[in-house]
Amino acid sequence: MSPVPRLVAALFVLLLSYPLVSGGQVSWLKRERNAAVARKAKRYLLVPMETAVPEARIDMRYKVTSAAGKPLYPADLPCLVHRSTAAKLRLVAKELAEHGYALKIWDAWRPPEAHQALWDAVRDERFVVPPSKGLSWHCYGVSIDLTLVRLDGNEVAMPSRFDEFSPRAASKYRGGDPEVARRLELLQNAMRRQGFRTIESEWWHFDDMKPQGGVRNVTAADLGIRMP
Ligand SMILES: [Zn+2]
Repeated sequence: MSPVPRLVAALFVLLLSYPLVSGGQVSWLKRERNAAVARKAKRYLLVPMETAVPEARIDMRYKVTSAAGKPLYPADLPCLVHRSTAAKLRLVAKELAEHGYALKIWDAWRPPEAHQALWDAVRDERFVVPPSKGLSWHCYGVSIDLTLVRLDGNEVAMPSRFDEFSPRAASKYRGGDPEVARRLELLQNAMRRQGFRTIESEWWHFDDMKPQGGVRNVTAADLGIRMP
């Protein structure tokens, strides 16, 4: 082929492929994929946190890193939560807003595939439910890991970082700064009032003790999500 027709052919291929790689097309595909996942999740009573609890900020730590030393979640994993748990979180969010705080969600529904990876990395029953003993309640979307931030999203001091496996992670830890202790108590009391249970080893973890409508273990595969 002479250089001119070759150039025309190359331009033609470029023109044909343009809509597939344009930013608009990519975000449309992303929206479609998210909508498909949300439709499937609904069948398991899981709803997207961002619409069910719009007051909450979302910062899913396992998209960034984990005790396994690498992200457990794909970057596009939606933050899902059991529908009735979301309703309770909304009430908590409204109560805390009166004190100038918002909830920041670190983890909610956790695909069992990721839970297994977390267990493989931590292997400490104080912090992770061993898969041999059953699934974490996160896998049903009724456990939440969260912290407090200011209403404008600014961080506030809390007893420890997420997944800091130290004595400061204990839900009864009240050492150090009295303001931090008061803040933690405010969060725990608001959560308990809506029927959440705290656990000894992690101040950021809460279980919804009475999710309505039943619970089901939901895997990433069930929702058509590919794990890393
Ligand atoms: Zn948790």
